[in-house]
Amino acid sequence: MSGKGLSPHIAMKKTVSFSKNAANVFFHILTACNLKCRHCYINPDQQGREILPLSTIETWLATFAEKGTQANVIFLGGEPTLHPDLSSAVRMARRLGYTSVTVDTNGYLFHDILSKVSPDEVDYFSFSLDGATRRTNDSIRGEGVYDKCVAGIREAVSKGFATSLIYTVSRLNIHELDAMPPLLRDMGVSRFFIQVIGIRGKSAEAQERLQVPKAEWTDHIPQVAERASALGITVTYPKVFLEPGEVFDCAGLTAHNYFIFPNGRVYRCPLCEDFPIHSLRFEGGRLVRTAAINERDLFRLDIREGCVMNKLIQPENLSYTPDAKPEYQIACCMLKMEIC
Ligand code: SF4
Ligand code: SF4
Repeated sequence: MSGKGLSPHIAMKKTVSFSKNAANVFFHILTACNLKCRHCYINPDQQGREILPLSTIETWLATFAEKGTQANVIFLGGEPTLHPDLSSAVRMARRLGYTSVTVDTNGYLFHDILSKVSPDEVDYFSFSLDGATRRTNDSIRGEGVYDKCVAGIREAVSKGFATSLIYTVSRLNIHELDAMPPLLRDMGVSRFFIQVIGIRGKSAEAQERLQVPKAEWTDHIPQVAERASALGITVTYPKVFLEPGEVFDCAGLTAHNYFIFPNGRVYRCPLCEDFPIHSLRFEGGRLVRTAAINERDLFRLDIREGCVMNKLIQPENLSYTPDAKPEYQIACCMLKMEIC
């Protein structure tokens, strides 16, 4: 797409298929957080309340570093910068040969983390903002969070860190997505992750309907993504709804994604995290398979609606013809589109 006053731009749009050779380790090193976001997916009753000691972090990181030729780690919480040893964990991941290291943060950047790690050690600091304005973001994430997060992004950029931003789209904030591309450019953010709200954690208890209907998603999200990419920002967003003829694939069966929690549970699918159906767990430092029935058994179910966990926990986004056939399939939540 090119336009008057804009430099010529060719958007490269592609479906990012699940990586089959690299392990992606989503490592929740604690579940504690200073915020109380309305849609928080963390569920300490299921995932634990421990702050993992550095020795455990090392053992668990080493397990996945050995598994494949490549491994990427995303440190998460709760708020991972609340962990006093996050900088050591980052360096540990580097020493163990992780290809990329990302830190997801709500922007508060505790323990002076930006001074304790260098841009060579952290590939991305990934910030979460759920509105283009104070009003919308803070109504979801809490009073004062917008200003703190924006200040954190600016500080990270000024110190030479690459930054990305995660925007979790729901009915509460889709109206402000249009305003995000210029804001991202102004802040110097290089990657934009548009997320779809998952009905888990606190969202599962919400009284209002949070998910955006199919027509609104497919009309709106790709356009915003293209506008952000025209500003030089790489954009990733979930596919969510498969088009006729597109093949459904479950990442739980074909990819190497591991969602690790402080109590030792390891899930292969993030939609399962509210339930004790993890397929793996750490036991005395060893990663072991859990007995049936667990998420692995669900992945194998072949249903007309596509993703089985979607049908179980968030069926509101399905729609049926008068003769009870699904009008479309729901893609795996890990299936992403990328525009660079
Ligand atoms: S969504 Fe993230 S920042 Fe918000 S309360 Fe949950 S863990 Fe904290
Ligand atoms: S989101 Fe659905 S399709 Fe993807 S891993 Fe989970 S169960 Fe499988």
